[in-house]
Amino acid sequence: MRLVLMGPPGAGKGTQAKFVSEALNIPHISTGEIFRKNVTEGTELGVKAKEYMDKGEYVPDEVTNSMVAARLAEPDAKNGFLLDGYPRTLPQVSELDAILDGLDTKLDNCVEITANTDEVVQRLLKRAELEGRPDDTEEVIRNRMVVYARETEPLAAVYEEHGILLKVDGMGEVDEVTQRLLAALGH
Ligand code: ADP
Repeated sequence: MRLVLMGPPGAGKGTQAKFVSEALNIPHISTGEIFRKNVTEGTELGVKAKEYMDKGEYVPDEVTNSMVAARLAEPDAKNGFLLDGYPRTLPQVSELDAILDGLDTKLDNCVEITANTDEVVQRLLKRAELEGRPDDTEEVIRNRMVVYARETEPLAAVYEEHGILLKVDGMGEVDEVTQRLLAALGH
């Protein structure tokens, strides 16, 4: 199964992606995690990405696109994957289609986790206390929500038009949401 998981910051995308990818036995590919790993390791990609991430802005498409193309060409992604955090812009949607075209395959579904804005801001502030992610300050969180609404939310309509959008309510207990996601995917 080839899946995209989208949803606003704090909707629980990363948490759910782990459970769903395990249940479906497909690799979980998180662009945010790949960027953070590169930042920690101080790679050239990490230095470039950090500039944007620290402000809650998106990393430029050309940087992100080539990173994803390389990751999807790895053997473990051959029979399926769960993309978490990509695509996030309209050009990334086209790029993903082109990458998959080149691999002679296509996306099965895009799952959108929906969430209540006030609740997700609270969740993110709590995560900031627990994990100390540098982009979890209130000001940066607000900016990430604005950027999401402007750049990423419109992608749901595109996938809806393609007839592959599934919407799942992300509010409630973690395992409740996991069950909803798996049910939406027919499991
Ligand atoms: P969240 O969804 O909680 O905001 P992620 O871990 O998915 O966080 O991403 C963290 C940051 O990494 C984003 O705010 C952005 O700067 C960068 N990033 C991740 N994925 C992409 C992408 N597809 N395009 C551009 N930037 C991205």
